[in-house]
Amino acid sequence: MGFTSALSTAKNLDKEDWLKKYRSEFLLPSSQSPIDIYFCGNSLGLQPSKTASHIERELSRWQDLGVEGFFNAFEGEPSWMEYQYKLSKKLCPIVGAQPSEVALMNSLTVNLHFLLVSFYRPSQGRYKILMEAGAFPSDQYAMASQLQSHGCSPEDGLIELTPREGEETLRTEDILSVIEENAEELALVLLGGVNYYTGQLFELEKIAKVSHGVGAVVGFDLAHAVGNVPLKLHDWGVDFAVWCNYKYMNGGPGTIGGLFVHETHGKDKGVARLSGWWGNDEKTRFLMQKDFQPAIGANGWQLSTPPVLLLAALHASLDIFEEVGMEKLVEKSKKMVAYLRFLIDDINKAIGEETIRIVTPESPSESGAQLSLVVEQGKKIFDNLIKKGIVVDWREPNVIRLAPVPLYNTFEEIFQFYTVLKDTFKTL
Ligand SMILES: *Cc1c(COP(=O)(O)O)cnc(C)c1O
Repeated sequence: MGFTSALSTAKNLDKEDWLKKYRSEFLLPSSQSPIDIYFCGNSLGLQPSKTASHIERELSRWQDLGVEGFFNAFEGEPSWMEYQYKLSKKLCPIVGAQPSEVALMNSLTVNLHFLLVSFYRPSQGRYKILMEAGAFPSDQYAMASQLQSHGCSPEDGLIELTPREGEETLRTEDILSVIEENAEELALVLLGGVNYYTGQLFELEKIAKVSHGVGAVVGFDLAHAVGNVPLKLHDWGVDFAVWCNYKYMNGGPGTIGGLFVHETHGKDKGVARLSGWWGNDEKTRFLMQKDFQPAIGANGWQLSTPPVLLLAALHASLDIFEEVGMEKLVEKSKKMVAYLRFLIDDINKAIGEETIRIVTPESPSESGAQLSLVVEQGKKIFDNLIKKGIVVDWREPNVIRLAPVPLYNTFEEIFQFYTVLKDTFKTL
């Protein structure tokens, strides 16, 4: 793309950036903060400047309308009954779903367990779960405990994908052949869309297709994928997916989670599930009848009254995503990552060896905004970056992760990171 290691390149890239105006829609750490550059939007996205006003509006509605807030519009926003649907619809283009396929509820790990009640139905012969070794710990614990709750040991029931000797990420061909090798026994394939540690984006469409080919159910944990990479869950035929909305989705610490249930299952009222009154068909929910009548679609998996204040916390960010669209966002993201890769390569060239190794796959179809770096004396380098006000994160045993986020980071920030990193090596 014609990058150079001069500051002018960064300035030009920022000048040409179509999304630059969105930076001002976020509250950047203030000048009193120890943070100069924030590259941790993959961990906790920054706060949109309009988030507070959305929460305040709901506080006012509560104050003015009390319980009537459930049934009455307020300051241009639909009733609390409708508010959740308004927001979940905005998520559909982000994950590639039909309006009936997305719901907002609980948080990621909770939703994972609830959906596994429906989608992990082991039988005597078909009971194994395939996941990536070193998956996010919550997924590991969830899968192990699901197996145990069905009377199966994780040693027997869990198949973990590991990279080839000497490699750090998984090859799609290897994932697919493990699925095929276990065709008879595989009940569920559950992968992170983007692996949190390596930043690898898996080839979800191919994985879904081959999993279905052997008769397995396929679900994805999209914590690091949603709002980061293009997703087409409906078209890919993914059975279910879960995600949190506080990473690239900027919904605030621990905010409400999202889930996807494919239309084919959403229409099927016979799917086993753990139910609660909010998942009951709206038409009969308040008749307070004895027998559960599931709502059609992902909403049929809801259990409880939606936490309106958490929904409101997500509103401003969803509006920004709606305005920008995933296509433009991904375009900038790829450019930022390519630029960051170029500058890291420049440091390695200057030093004369590969002092910084990028673990994340190079192919743009196998990565999102995050790069994971293995650096000699990594912890020392990390500490120095933090001291200089550059917020990246450290993951044991040896990875520095950073994510330039297209909605609010700039090319000049990437350049500044490069300068600091380069200087750090000189002082070692
Ligand atoms: C961040 C993250 C989670 C977090 O789960 P919560 O239930 O929201 O705490 C789970 N899985 C993955 C892959 C993650 O990256």
